[in-house]
This record gives sequence, C-alpha cells and structure tokens, in this order.
Amino acid sequence: MRDLINSYLDELVAIRRDMHKHPEPGFKETRTSGIVAEKLRNWGIEVHTGMAKTGVVGTLAAGNSNQTIALRADMDALPLQERNTFDHRSIHDGIMHACGHDGHTAMLLGAARYLAQTRNFNGTVHLIFQPAEEGGGGGRIMIEEGLFDRFPTDAIYGMHNRSDQEAGLFGVRVGGIMAATDNFEIVVTGIGTHAAMPHKGIDPIVTASGIVSALQSIVSRNVPPLQSAVISTTQFNSGTTWNIIPDTATLRGCVRTRRPDVRDHIRLAMERVISGVCAAHGASYDFSFIPGYPLTVNTERETRAAVSAAAKVVGERQVDPDTPPLMASEDFSYYLKKVPGSYIFLGNGKQSVTHRADYDFNDEIIPAGVQYWATLVEQELSGKCR
Ligand SMILES: [Zn+2]
Ligand SMILES: [Zn+2]
Repeated sequence: MRDLINSYLDELVAIRRDMHKHPEPGFKETRTSGIVAEKLRNWGIEVHTGMAKTGVVGTLAAGNSNQTIALRADMDALPLQERNTFDHRSIHDGIMHACGHDGHTAMLLGAARYLAQTRNFNGTVHLIFQPAEEGGGGGRIMIEEGLFDRFPTDAIYGMHNRSDQEAGLFGVRVGGIMAATDNFEIVVTGIGTHAAMPHKGIDPIVTASGIVSALQSIVSRNVPPLQSAVISTTQFNSGTTWNIIPDTATLRGCVRTRRPDVRDHIRLAMERVISGVCAAHGASYDFSFIPGYPLTVNTERETRAAVSAAAKVVGERQVDPDTPPLMASEDFSYYLKKVPGSYIFLGNGKQSVTHRADYDFNDEIIPAGVQYWATLVEQELSGKCR
C-alpha cells in the first residue's frame, strides 16, 4: 500500500497545490468539484454530482458484502487575503485555502485512486466531497437532500488537519471532539422617554447592560467547573441620539459548548437571567437561541476502528486516542447525528495556524492521510463479521 500510494504522490501534491492556487468559496466550488468528478470517473468510480450544488459522491464496490463505509472531505476555501508568496499561492484576491480543505480533498482523491485500483475490500465505499464546511453547512444540506437515502452507510469517517499538532501525528477521542456553536439575539423592550425624565419610561439600555453582566455568571456559577463553555456578547445596539432614551436595545452573541446537557442548561439559564433582569426593570424581551453547528460526537466502536487504522499507518505511539477537543465547530457533526462514525485529526505541523493568512497545508502529511483512509476501508470492509 505504502509504495503504491507513494507512486501517486507527485500527482496528489500537484492536485493539492492547483486547488490551493484556485480556491473557491462555499457552494461555488465548481472548478474544484469538476476536477474531483473527472478524476473519480477516470479511475473507474461511479460519480454522482449536484448535491448541495457542488457536492460530489463517488461510489466504489467490490466483492459481495453489503457492508458500507463513507469517507468525507470538504472542498471550500475561506474569505481571507493570502500572505504567502510561494508559486501555488491563491490567484483570487480575498479568498484562500486557509483551513487545508485543499489537502483534505487531495488525500481523499488519493485514497479513491488506490481503492479503485486495488479493490482489496469487500463491500461499498462512498467518497463524499462536500461544499461549504466553513459556516454554510454543506454537509447538513447534502443530508437534507437525501445523502443517506441515496447512499446508505454503516459508518462515516472524517479527517481534519490540525495546526497545533506535530506533522503526521493522529489524534482522536470518543465523545465530543469539536464544540457546538449557537448564536443568540436578545431584544429588550422598555419605554422610550426624554433623557432628562427617565422616570417617565423604562430604560432598555440599563436593562440590557444588566443582562450582559449577569450572563457572565452562568459559566462561572451554573456550569460545573470541569465543563467548558463560553458565552460571548459580541453586539450591543441601541439608541439614535444623545437626549432620547430609546424603546429597545438589541444584544447578540454566541455560545460554545461541548456537551448537549451543558448547552441545554445554558439556554435555560440564559432565559432565566434575561427574564429576571427584565422583570427587575419592568422591561420585556424577546430571546432567540439560534442553533449553529451541533457538537461533533465520535461513537465508540468507530473511534476504536479509527485508532486501529491510524496505528497501522504511523505506529501506536504516534496516535493519541484521547486528544484534547477543540472549541471550534464542524458540520461533520450533522453526519454523526445520522450514522455512527469518527472524526480524526492529523497533525499539520506547527509552522502556522488554520484560518491565518500565512497558513498552508503540509504536503508531507498526504501519504499518512491517504494510507489512513485506505487502511480504514480495508480494515472495516474486510469481509469478516463486525
Ligand atoms: Zn476552518
Ligand atoms: Zn476546516
């Protein structure tokens, strides 16, 4: 496997750098998904296009087993001006592959080519190339458009490079590996009045200020100290001029959590705090808790499978089965709400950080990533009983 995959390496690096040079934002990955579909077809893989606009699913079967596995890569770039000066830097102003999705796509293509050529497995592999991971929820839309009805699978696996981890090291954990993000909006309604006659109204600015302060006590006083959570009020908008107390004040912000019970607890505590502060001031409110990406929760059996496959590639000592989770979030979480699976990190080396203008995917980790995918398929679709 190692030698065969290494024989494609120059081509995979060329594909990766070409994608880096031509980044495309979420749902507009037409060039990228065109290349993906063409490569898959050339390697004899059945190709389905058009899900969530630019999504591509390649399906490859071998043997007679009805066991199925799905592997997922993301294709979108970020709205960021690249600062790198190497030859494969972005040719599009204000957009760059700053999260390594170019590398994820190239690694899954490498696995596709190997699996199509060797077919050393018994069952079906679905290769999912999704659009718009960065906030657009491309994965969620593919599911809504019937991904798992058209391509049912026993398990799904994802992989992301990690820039605070040594190159080539794998890290994974059972349970929550990426946080949930939710946004909130609180509209406080008082009674506007002359600034010199506050007793004639109800001041929404003083009320909302009380809410901003009181919300901070939820994480420090209501969330168990060993759980992590963040509540950030990031917008406070009210008023039109110096001498009018306005009718309303609007607060917005986000909540990050790592456990569904903590998330629910925070939502309820927020409502309690907002309603209490508003009652104290005689104001009313409208509170919206707007769900973002849910928690990314790895299932136990599939995570054991991921650890075992990664250990076969890089050795047990290079795999952390209890890696620290991140407070960032992932739309891979939507797949894991439907089918069991596991999302693994592959260290990119620490020379830069994802979402920064000098980031680049590390081509040296491509072989480990491709071998991980190929090993996982051969291990899970070995034809033996699970
Ligand atoms: Zn990202
Ligand atoms: Zn990413």
